[in-house]
Amino acid sequence: MGGEEIKYVNSAFEENWIAPLGPNVNGFEQDICDYANIGHCTALSSGTSAIHLALIMLGVEQGDEVLASTFTFSATINPILYQKATPILVESEKDTWNMSPVFLKEAIEDRIATGKKPKAIIPVHLYGMPAKMDEIMEIAAEYQIPVIEDAAEGMGASLKGKKLGVFGDIGVYSFNGNKIITTSGGGVLVSENKDYADKARFLATQARDQAPHYQHSEIGYNYRMSNICAGIGRGQLQVLDSWVNKRKTNFDRYKKELSDLPIEFLNEPNADYFSNRWLTTITTSSYEKREEIRLALEKENIESRPLWKPMHLQPIFKDYLYYGDGLSERLFEKGLCLPSGSNMTEQQQDRVIATIKKCFD
Ligand SMILES: *Cc1c(COP(=O)(O)O)cnc(C)c1O
Repeated sequence: MGGEEIKYVNSAFEENWIAPLGPNVNGFEQDICDYANIGHCTALSSGTSAIHLALIMLGVEQGDEVLASTFTFSATINPILYQKATPILVESEKDTWNMSPVFLKEAIEDRIATGKKPKAIIPVHLYGMPAKMDEIMEIAAEYQIPVIEDAAEGMGASLKGKKLGVFGDIGVYSFNGNKIITTSGGGVLVSENKDYADKARFLATQARDQAPHYQHSEIGYNYRMSNICAGIGRGQLQVLDSWVNKRKTNFDRYKKELSDLPIEFLNEPNADYFSNRWLTTITTSSYEKREEIRLALEKENIESRPLWKPMHLQPIFKDYLYYGDGLSERLFEKGLCLPSGSNMTEQQQDRVIATIKKCFD
């Protein structure tokens, strides 16, 4: 926490706004719009619920196909199945580890050739590294397929000076406890299209029709963010940029201290890309080396974790179509996320660095 959060939480108590609406919710939405420089925002209970509502608003239904990054967290894909639609998994490219425009185009053309045009595309900004949004949006425009931009890990990162989350038709942020800033749990949906933000708010509050009694013509959800959580979010937004700086400092220090070892870091492809370095990741020479480092850290009571296991390898998603060349599988085998917290001290980081160095003695 940065310190200001408690002020907003206290004001919720003082004003007795302990509900999924109130001044903090409205204020948080305005703060997000200002931060990301986007027209409209709806505060929700999670990033997952934001993706779910985005799919509903784009008309994704049973039997529809949705293209999504395979190299991601399962929360990108699960909402497709909530709609009984079919995920089509698209491999990453090596520059950013995010959705490959080449495989995206191949997948679209192949699906259209079988008679089925995908209903939506969900690219992800993994670990806060911007995906190649210009190319992805160009392909989306060519085939007229809407884009839901999963920026759950990308808050505070930018591409060509534009914050991530504002490139797609609908953008999604997460404020889960593990993300770069948090509301303890929460998410938002952003869009330049006011209708999407309004419709999301309507669906997220049980889809109540305009009437003095409770009347419903559509399926509703209980997906709104609480005024307490939004208060935490308001304070967190004030420290977001400094948290990003701290994470970048972590990354730079790891890179400098470990540069002599045979491990690799993912660099921003060029000056257009600004990663928030949510997590510092490394890739090693082999699965065995990766495990040696992970277990050496674990022995020192230091948590690290393999990179995301790709969705096309997950037991629950393995039968869905996949377009790619296995890049994410190789990254999963050889890659590791290092401790990257915004509050990590230099001494703590030194312990991590020393433990990794020992694996190469
Ligand atoms: C965390 C995350 C989500 C889901 O966000 P929640 O707020 O935890 O529901 C979606 N996509 C990605 C890539 C994530 O990392």
